Amino acid sequence: MTAQGSGRFYVETLGCPKNQVDSDKIVGTLLHDGLSPTDDPSAAEVVVVNTCAFIEEARKESIGVILQLNELRPSGSRLVVTGCMAERYGDELAVELPEVDAVVGFGGAITEQQQRRLIPVSEAPMPTMDLLNLQRPPSQRPWAYVKVAEGCNRSCGFCAIPSFRGSQRSRDTDSILAEVQSLQAKEIVLVAQDLASYGIDRPDELGAGAIVPLVRAVSTEAERVRLLYLYPSDLTDELVEVILGTQVPYFDLSLQHVSKPLLRRMRRWGDGDRFLKRISEIRSVRPDATMRSNFIVGYPGETDDDHAALVEFVEEADLDWCGFFSFSREVGTYAYDLDGQVDPRLMNERLAELTEMQDAITARRRDALIGEHVNVLVDERGVGRSHREAPEIDGVIHIDPSHAVGSFVEVKIEEAWGPDLVAVGGTIPDDDDEESL
Ligand code: SF4
Repeated sequence: MTAQGSGRFYVETLGCPKNQVDSDKIVGTLLHDGLSPTDDPSAAEVVVVNTCAFIEEARKESIGVILQLNELRPSGSRLVVTGCMAERYGDELAVELPEVDAVVGFGGAITEQQQRRLIPVSEAPMPTMDLLNLQRPPSQRPWAYVKVAEGCNRSCGFCAIPSFRGSQRSRDTDSILAEVQSLQAKEIVLVAQDLASYGIDRPDELGAGAIVPLVRAVSTEAERVRLLYLYPSDLTDELVEVILGTQVPYFDLSLQHVSKPLLRRMRRWGDGDRFLKRISEIRSVRPDATMRSNFIVGYPGETDDDHAALVEFVEEADLDWCGFFSFSREVGTYAYDLDGQVDPRLMNERLAELTEMQDAITARRRDALIGEHVNVLVDERGVGRSHREAPEIDGVIHIDPSHAVGSFVEVKIEEAWGPDLVAVGGTIPDDDDEESL
């Protein structure tokens, strides 16, 4: 997606961290084309909305933002819609939203002719961009997401992502490392739809288990490497070992449920006992290992017993962080036509029960950190994160605002405010002579 000439651009990003990476690459491309960024859409010649289509609620939000920005933008500017909604509903968007000047998909290479101008919806088929391999500008923050693959080869019953993001396409290790170097970030957060499967689509060059050498290689380029979205069956001993060897013993396990029959209906692997065993093995090696997961509540066929099993698991697993999401019936998924759709009121009750339980667990685990010394990366003035907090997802640690953004400091936890912590002091790690602040 390229616009000719000079001018200002505004990019609005919705959805998950993977979308943020795509937006960074759109920004990189527009900067390369000679445009400059603005945070005021009413002053922009090009307004880009990077949409999310994950569930109904996200789609509504995306459309709301598109319409809102259309009101704000100056006449003569270009309104461009990209991201998952563009990919999944490109044709419908073009018809339903005549305000939009261009709908741009992703995954393939944009043609030269398309590069010369932004294409009005009515004049041409939807252009696409190879977002995975576009350049990005250096990170504006001390951390950055890096997407190592696009698409997914699994077929989880509730998920529409493979239908519009396609099969998994892993990037070359060299291009990932070049991107890591150019970002100049202290913490690199590796993301993909199915991160631990990195490389399986390229058996000759990469192959299964390629995530292990990739994490090792990225660790040589950045102080911290964090991995998000690990499918539990791919969490091998080798991968656990390499994660424990980084500065970030943090495990984001995509579990989705614990009842074995329900997991099979979800077309997923594992069961609660296996998950608990894995979590306890990791904690026996590293008691400070942080565990995050997420679960779907009210998947078709979820019985009272299934729900009770999940409640029991949440109590026993004692996870640091956990998200619960109501099942969303997505057109084109296996689960759409399944019998046993759960009444929305029952779904909400189950969701509220689990959320309340987990909030208490998270708060208790955060309270238990009071008095501990932790190493934080200063994200912004007065705010840092230790290995226990993933950016934009978990809590934060409030610190003395005098610490330099981008530095690592050793602080002492004094208070807990639910998910957030308050710390005092601050010495530069590895320098015992440094004055305590
Ligand atoms: S692993 Fe399952 S939930 Fe995740 S993107 Fe792939 S199909 Fe969807």
